[in-house]
Amino acid sequence: MLEIRFHGRGGTGTVLASRAYAKAVFYAGRHAITFPSFGPERRGAPVLAFARIDNKKIYKRTQIYEPDVVVCLDDAIMELIDIAQGIKKGGKGVLNSPNKPDEIKLSKSIEVGVVDATKIAKEVLESTITNSATLGALIRTIDTISFKHLEKGILSVFGEKLGEKLAKKNVEAARIAFEETIFGTTLGGRNYSQEKCWLPTFDELPIGTILSKSEVNSGQLIGPGSAITRKTGTWNHKKAKIDQEKCNKCLICVFHCPEGTIHREGDIIKIDHTYCKACGICIEECPENAISMVEIKDFSEITS
Ligand code: SF4
Ligand code: SF4
Repeated sequence: MLEIRFHGRGGTGTVLASRAYAKAVFYAGRHAITFPSFGPERRGAPVLAFARIDNKKIYKRTQIYEPDVVVCLDDAIMELIDIAQGIKKGGKGVLNSPNKPDEIKLSKSIEVGVVDATKIAKEVLESTITNSATLGALIRTIDTISFKHLEKGILSVFGEKLGEKLAKKNVEAARIAFEETIFGTTLGGRNYSQEKCWLPTFDELPIGTILSKSEVNSGQLIGPGSAITRKTGTWNHKKAKIDQEKCNKCLICVFHCPEGTIHREGDIIKIDHTYCKACGICIEECPENAISMVEIKDFSEITS
């Protein structure tokens, strides 16, 4: 699976870019999903979009914290945000910048494809919307699909929103960017001020607090998150159990368990039977049929 994180600004077509790319991947006969994450909902505010591509069906729906590729549509975003954060070893960047790769300083030194997408957008589109040009640089840099497929993706997604004439101009911007992309390695060592983490990363989720807990007047916890005060222990003679051989670590069960009992320990997904109430929801939702309900004879044995 290839995971791509797009960095841009509200109102500059970041989400449209990720959708057009995903559609192009689909036209190339592969699987793709894409979704946005908005911060402050206003024009100009930093936004993120994510795309996953694979040769098989994709179940993973979490945000991408450790991308294979980061795409930055706006030169100035790199001044504010550590776009290389979490990038995998050997991961690549695709940057809109008037500078050469070795003139760009990020938190890490990474291999990049760089294009002056703003200049191209001004010339071809008479605007500063850099999404289509950046897509041209993206497929040149990571070579996952052909330009023909990207063209189809842009014509479909941009065409639906902007009309055929403007969609064709965006194809032209992408084509010029594809040809003008240059390659190299950025400088590393740039320090960014620590950002507030609004959403917890997966391994920060403790048992029973996947969603916030709420209190009633009596002080009792109710609703999602209340499991922390509701140990099931030996109350139930059946518990859900994960077959680690089958588990693909998609995390779908984690987000469906109403008790918040499924968690990650190191590299494996585990169920804390202290809280599992054997409702069976995780069994229904697991795409790999990796979870089954087992009879518990000796409660000292059950941990996953
Ligand atoms: S047990 Fe199933 S749903 Fe849970 S992470 Fe593994 S494959 Fe995904
Ligand atoms: S059976 Fe229900 S409570 Fe137990 S782990 Fe699965 S979803 Fe959670």
